[in-house]
Amino acid sequence: MKGLAELGEFGLIDRIRARFPQPAAPELGIGDDAALLSPSAGCQVIVSTDLLAEGVHFDLGFGPARLLGRKSLAVNLSDIASMGAIPRWFFLSLAIPAGFPLATIEGFLDGLAEQAAEHNCILAGGDTCGSKGGLTISVTIMGEQRSELILKRGGAQLDDEVWVSGTLGDSALGLKLLLEGVRLGGADDSLLLRQLDPTPRCALGVKLAEAGLVNAMIDISDGLLADLGHIGEQSGTGAEILLEQLPLSAALQSCCSSLPEFPWQLAVSGGEDYELCFTAPVCNHAAIQKISKTAGIPLTVVGKVTDSGQVKAILPDGTIFKPSASGYTHF
Ligand code: ADP
Ligand code: MG
Repeated sequence: MKGLAELGEFGLIDRIRARFPQPAAPELGIGDDAALLSPSAGCQVIVSTDLLAEGVHFDLGFGPARLLGRKSLAVNLSDIASMGAIPRWFFLSLAIPAGFPLATIEGFLDGLAEQAAEHNCILAGGDTCGSKGGLTISVTIMGEQRSELILKRGGAQLDDEVWVSGTLGDSALGLKLLLEGVRLGGADDSLLLRQLDPTPRCALGVKLAEAGLVNAMIDISDGLLADLGHIGEQSGTGAEILLEQLPLSAALQSCCSSLPEFPWQLAVSGGEDYELCFTAPVCNHAAIQKISKTAGIPLTVVGKVTDSGQVKAILPDGTIFKPSASGYTHF
């Protein structure tokens, strides 16, 4: 296989273009100075971008590059899901160190192409340059939805139930295991894969938006408490979370059995769950349960919206739980 230096910037872009289906005329994807895209009639365009920096967001030694490719798009898909929108297009910008192995790039593109195909999301362009530091990956995603259906952080109402999808804390525990040297191929794969290959809740997000049952929604990337804090800031509300109601996987519970509060710590502040957290009026409870059943994704009420302006996590004895960290922040 040729190296990156022989292939060059434009050779690499050609290779990327060949691997991803391109939009059809009158739309235009990779190859011109800019892309031309046509959202469906009556839809607003929803745009989000995420940056993944080597050594900050990922370590190439933790798993195959294919999974990094999947995750690079998954975290963006999750942002579109959290707005209740349908993913349509994405842009890929890469800063690649000189001499970086082409096989790793190919593995990355394999995973990215898989995830894109699974979600019918078209690669419409990007940018490519060298890096004096590590590998940096930026994905910008565009989705669409009818404006009246789009779910924002700012809609929470007093006494709404707070719901979460799936289970919480697995990804943070997976990261902890990876940092301790555990690798794929053993008994902890389910946890490691929650960190390395998260599942964006795309279909669920759209279903919830289209059902009109939800007041506010966010995806849990920084940890439940931090992300509920974002809903609170935008909605002018607070929330109370009952820790014993948090959905915890069997793998998380058994791994942490000797430390009673550790699973809760991970579940409320671990981050990178990429589950959906939303608030909805109590009267919509049964209808939301029905959606959970049809979608085959657990949805759990973990607390309620309050007017305190703060997010509180309550222990089974009624006292307030103080997590030792309340979500990942960069600076
Ligand atoms: P310009 O110099 O005008 O910015 P480029 O040479 O950077 O154009 O890009 C040429 C075309 O290739 C553009 O359509 C751009 O969107 C696309 N492109 C560049 N890098 C990537 C990439 N990493 N992934 C997808 N498309 C890319
Ligand atoms: Mg460019």
